[in-house]
Amino acid sequence: MNLHEYQAKELFRAAGMAVNPGEVAGDARAVRRIAERWDGKVVVKAQVHSGGRGKAGGVRLARTAGEAESSAEAILGMEINGLAVERVLVSPLEEIASEAYAGVLVDRDSQCPVLMVSAEGGVDIEEVARDNPDAIHRLHVDPRYGLMPHQAFGLAGKLFRDPAQRRQGARIIAQLYQVFVENGASMAEINPLIATAAGEVLAIDAKVSLDDNELFRRPALAALRDPGSEDEAERKAREKGLSFVRLEGNVGCCVNGAGLAMATMDLVKHCGGEPANFLDIGGSSNPDKVVAALEIITADPAVRVILFNIFGGITRCDDVARGIVEATRRIEIEAPIVIRLTGTNERLAREILADAGFAAGTSMDEVVQEAVRLAG
Ligand code: GDP
Ligand code: MN
Repeated sequence: MNLHEYQAKELFRAAGMAVNPGEVAGDARAVRRIAERWDGKVVVKAQVHSGGRGKAGGVRLARTAGEAESSAEAILGMEINGLAVERVLVSPLEEIASEAYAGVLVDRDSQCPVLMVSAEGGVDIEEVARDNPDAIHRLHVDPRYGLMPHQAFGLAGKLFRDPAQRRQGARIIAQLYQVFVENGASMAEINPLIATAAGEVLAIDAKVSLDDNELFRRPALAALRDPGSEDEAERKAREKGLSFVRLEGNVGCCVNGAGLAMATMDLVKHCGGEPANFLDIGGSSNPDKVVAALEIITADPAVRVILFNIFGGITRCDDVARGIVEATRRIEIEAPIVIRLTGTNERLAREILADAGFAAGTSMDEVVQEAVRLAG
């Protein structure tokens, strides 16, 4: 789950980090009033779950309260990467002497958190990684011991020469790591971490992603979810208890069980196709879930064919069949539906499907090949 910048900054502040102040507003008049308190010299920033807001025009600097208001008007009407901007964060304008980067994420290869810092901050870190990889310094943190003070100090030395700034930087890096660990994050990032003209080191941007599996034991964090800014299909799937991940391809997949879903996606690729999604309807028998799954899959305009792969154990094939028939009554489905099912109540399922004009195979290979062929 992604947090908004203003939410991430709250976590940073709770850890005692030096973060620039800010206030959130949803309309331009309110932005004007906030800006007046800071003499009109503010930065107005779109609060959306997207990087590169600056490049998209979602970060604007104002010199007067009037400018702040008109900046807010422009930003509040914008869409950034398909996400409508509903709120802005207003902060007093900082005078920037230098911009650095500090981030921490989970490195699956080493099974450790990895801290990354770069003196080339303020720009896309992916760009730095591609064009100038030596400018990024990495440190794997052994989770048994945590981040040692000398390690934080060492990393800060890659960012700041001035001893006082280096000490401040080390403290912020340690606090960033603490926020990451204590909140069950999968990523926490400051870009840019600035030195101000007055010599202070300050986090003026914040990005945090929380591991969804950590949320059940952190209700206060779970409550930070902003449903308005989530992908429509992923939100609906979560509400219906389906595991769903959108992918790039055109073969819509509807499978029971995560392992079988992954095997199905592998086979689609092996046959030369590209899955449009990962979708696990779960182990339960519930025609409603199948209907919801088909609604989600067919809402994706890229889908050219819908592939069902059902191995009936606890899941009853007849329930899935009823769900398919029910869905075709309720929603208009243009894409062809290709079905493989086998297992519990298989014969009954075939009868239900045959009555509605569907055929179902039993061989996974044949059915996947057929689906890939139909997807073109
Ligand atoms: P992002 O583009 O979504 O990462 O948004 P950022 O918060 O990182 O802002 C983008 C850029 O705007 C920063 O790298 C800065 O160069 C600039 N910026 C943001 N806040 C301020 C500020 O208070 N003062 C000045 N001078 N520039 C700022
Ligand atoms: Mn940024």
